[in-house]
Amino acid sequence: MLAGIAAPLLLACKTNDPQAQPSASTRPRPRPAPPPAPGAGGACAETAANIEGPYYRAGVPERADLTDAGMPGVPLEIAGRVTTSDCTTALANVELDVWQANHSGHYDNDGSMPPGRVLLRGRLRTDADGRYRVKTIVPGRYLNGAQYRPAHVHVKLRAQGHALLTTQLYFPDDPFNEVDPFIHRSLVMAVERKDRLLLARYDFVLRPV
Ligand code: FE
Repeated sequence: MLAGIAAPLLLACKTNDPQAQPSASTRPRPRPAPPPAPGAGGACAETAANIEGPYYRAGVPERADLTDAGMPGVPLEIAGRVTTSDCTTALANVELDVWQANHSGHYDNDGSMPPGRVLLRGRLRTDADGRYRVKTIVPGRYLNGAQYRPAHVHVKLRAQGHALLTTQLYFPDDPFNEVDPFIHRSLVMAVERKDRLLLARYDFVLRPV
């Protein structure tokens, strides 16, 4: 399964953004394989927070489909469930505020696009069973200093009676996972390929306050 996931990520890089190719100076060095991801089916644990980064925008449209017609990129669906800290009790009506880079690693507010354009951002809510599903594309990598960040999707979760969670979701087999200083292993999604579509699964666990 993992080998099949790496291909579209690398393909997106090669075909759409030549500058995102690992060069001799940015190519990651191998490290031991990461442990299983608790949020993706392992032991019960509250979902780890992760840096917000510089590209968050408040008040984006409510939508579960972040794509625009004709948008390039590998189609991706991220789905899962949001529970409280027992990893069982569903949390309904949780707001997921999602944002990410486009296929070539650009955000709509990084200076590469006309001001005011809203691209690959949206807010959606969990249903009565705590389930969510967001339709998007595989984000491209971008340089952070001298090194590429692994592909990732940013999420903020707002649930009544629970702490605000700001985090990021990552993809298995991205070579930059091994060298990124920000990634948390528990935030790597379970991903499978279905034809041209990538189906990613991630269950969030929130901390009551
Ligand atoms: Fe980012």
